[in-house]
Amino acid sequence: MNLVLMGLPGAGKGTQAERIVEHYSIPHISTGDMFRAAIKDGTDLGLKAKSFMDQGELVPDEVTVGIVKERLAKPDCENGFLLDGFPRTIAQAEQLESILQELRRPLSHVIHIDVDKSQLMERLTGRRICKVCGATYHKVFNPPEVEGICDRCGGELYQRADDAEETVKNRLEVNVKQMQPLLDFYKERNLLDSINGEQDIQDVFGDVQQLLGGSR
Ligand code: AMP
Repeated sequence: MNLVLMGLPGAGKGTQAERIVEHYSIPHISTGDMFRAAIKDGTDLGLKAKSFMDQGELVPDEVTVGIVKERLAKPDCENGFLLDGFPRTIAQAEQLESILQELRRPLSHVIHIDVDKSQLMERLTGRRICKVCGATYHKVFNPPEVEGICDRCGGELYQRADDAEETVKNRLEVNVKQMQPLLDFYKERNLLDSINGEQDIQDVFGDVQQLLGGSR
């Protein structure tokens, strides 16, 4: 079961990724996680990636494709894998295609967790955090008992600068621009499966299971 997972920020991609890799016992290959680990460990890769990540830019393809190629060749990917955060560009998608051809392990599905942009705005701008203890709430989905006050410690709740409406809107637009050509690319190849991400977490995963079947 060779999978790519796609979705905009706030669509619940992380939650579904966790469930998929656990249920189907396949490795979770997140390029973002790999870069963050490399930076933490101070490796060459980390040094190469850091300046791009700090500026919110994509790490160059030759670096990114290189680490994915190495990772996919490992024995634990023989029974499948879940790619998350990769590919991010058409060039990456094309190179992934040839890597998988070489390995004789073509993609089985590209799963797109689909949530409307207005829903995502609500999800992403509703987050509130306690100034004192760091507990997180959501205005709509997980509100505190008293508005603006932390249930746990009575601290004041605030909105992070990067959760503010304009910032979130920009972030979403950048992500849509990046993702749409990839959705088209996989649609043309008949690999794209969009799943309604506007349901309960459990129901979204139910749809994923229906698509993939009960076991790997
Ligand atoms: P993520 O955790 O997926 O949001 O990734 C965090 C950062 O890592 C991104 O902003 C990029 O700088 C870098 N990154 C992750 N995946 C890729 C990729 N496929 N291509 C280029 N850069 C990436």
